[in-house]
Amino acid sequence: MTALEDPSINKGMAFTKEHRKMLCLQGLLPPTSFPLETEAQRALMQLNNCPSPLDKYIYLMGLQDRNETLFYRLVVDHVTDIMPLIYTPTVGEACQKYGHIFQRPRGMYISIEDMGSVKSILANWPSKKVDVVVITDGERILGLGDLGTYGMGIPVGKLNLYTACGGINPDRCLPITVDVGTNTQTLIDDPYYTGLKQPRVRGEKYMQFMEEVLIGLHEHFPGVLIQFEDFGNTTAFELLEKYRNRICTFNDDIQGTASVTLAGLLSATRMKGTKLKDELFLFSGAGEAGTGIADLIVEELVAEGMPKDEAKKRCWLVDSKGLVVHSRLHELQHHKIPYAHEYPEEIKEFIEVVRKLKPTAIIGVSAQAGAFSQQVIELMAELNERPIIFPLSNPTSKAECTAEEAVKFTKGKVLFASGSPFPAMEYEGKRFVPGQGNNAYIFPGVGLGAVLGGLKHVTDGMLRIAAQAVADTVTPEDVAVECLYPPLTKIRSVSAKIALMVIEEAKKENLATRLEIQSEDQVRKEMYDPAY
Ligand code: NAP
Ligand code: MN
Repeated sequence: MTALEDPSINKGMAFTKEHRKMLCLQGLLPPTSFPLETEAQRALMQLNNCPSPLDKYIYLMGLQDRNETLFYRLVVDHVTDIMPLIYTPTVGEACQKYGHIFQRPRGMYISIEDMGSVKSILANWPSKKVDVVVITDGERILGLGDLGTYGMGIPVGKLNLYTACGGINPDRCLPITVDVGTNTQTLIDDPYYTGLKQPRVRGEKYMQFMEEVLIGLHEHFPGVLIQFEDFGNTTAFELLEKYRNRICTFNDDIQGTASVTLAGLLSATRMKGTKLKDELFLFSGAGEAGTGIADLIVEELVAEGMPKDEAKKRCWLVDSKGLVVHSRLHELQHHKIPYAHEYPEEIKEFIEVVRKLKPTAIIGVSAQAGAFSQQVIELMAELNERPIIFPLSNPTSKAECTAEEAVKFTKGKVLFASGSPFPAMEYEGKRFVPGQGNNAYIFPGVGLGAVLGGLKHVTDGMLRIAAQAVADTVTPEDVAVECLYPPLTKIRSVSAKIALMVIEEAKKENLATRLEIQSEDQVRKEMYDPAY
């Protein structure tokens, strides 16, 4: 194999004459050598020539397979345009068609049929040093449901962002999909489906398998951060509880979402001139995202001095059966119970709940497109001078409302954040830049902090601090266009800031094993920068 076939060292036409001589590449490349900048322009031109977002996705994955540095140069320099291609929303479509667009494997697949020999399989991974693993079992891919092994696009995409936004060395990233079957009939019927064609294994056997995988990873790659991603809510909470104090881990759907949403809420209250304690939160959706966000809001309120019981009562949840209330206790999943408040009646319709509870903020995490109807939005604007409306469900097709609807139906009064990106817009002569409550503001920085600080565990305290760090980077220029988050173009510096704050928090909590890092400059020096 020549250097041209190894994507981690390949420079393609950017190999200089000297390099070509040294690596025996003379004659194997066109004669002219080009600088990285020109190579990036060439790649961008090719990307722009791809007709659809999915074609662009396929092109980018191919580029990563050929020339990693060039791929990351492109992502870092054009993050606002490229992130929606390698992450939500396009990655959703890519996952739905993963077996159809498949060209070359990336990451590791560990099947429940491998139970008992996971260790020897992990030894097949060519790199001995791994800093971050993102692992999924494909059960709840974005808001798209059970995609089985087709879900691999998600850990791959997330790790792309760990590198592009957080500067984690790409050679030290490992995406993993565990295959325990799928309950999606269309995949069972799909001739190109890449996983086990059997119903999902659940219960004791599933937990034993996960134990073998997680502890196997923890032992084979000492110090590795293992991030749970897109597990279904019947396993996600249990896995997180079981492992959060045993290994270095966090669940991005529960905790990362919570952190980025808290960041948006903190900057919304700052814009309104209120405090978090003045707000009443109503969630459409009571799953991983909903209860994760509520839990972190409670943590923040308690840290600001509110008694815990009172803080919990600031958060109300609606699930598929209606308002979560105390009289439904017998039928509620464990994670909803803290929010099953006493209430005189059971209400099914979301708009009725809004009418009765008069929330100041509604947060959509139910994957129900249109759940924030025109009537709901108008009602929020009647009830509030500045209604906070966050349709967070992904991908775009699942968003509870669009940015345009939220702005129009509130006559420009809304404080808005969405899960998937919406374009900037004008309303009555004023420019609005819809903020994206994108977990990518949080997890790359937290991961970088975990790696550089050698963290034993990731705690909710660290995620709360990360939220504050993001909210603190919002500038008057962002406020002028009603944007609750900093622009994505600043994401690497946001990550560096978060990493430092996470390390400092870890030192306080006695969870850091490396103490050298003491400044943002030091963090930046450790960040991978795609250059030749
Ligand atoms: P989940 O654990 O499956 O939870 C979904 C919740 O929605 C469940 O509580 C479900 O009710 C509820 N639901 C279903 N139909 C409903 C309806 N008609 N009205 C009200 N609630 C309804 O999923 P999740 O992890 O929380 O993710 C949910 C969505 O949030 C996904 O689209 C995901 O992409 C998105 N998300 C966004 C971000 C972000 O933007 N940063 C981060 C993470 C997740 P039951 O409990 O009764 O089944
Ligand atoms: Mn996710």
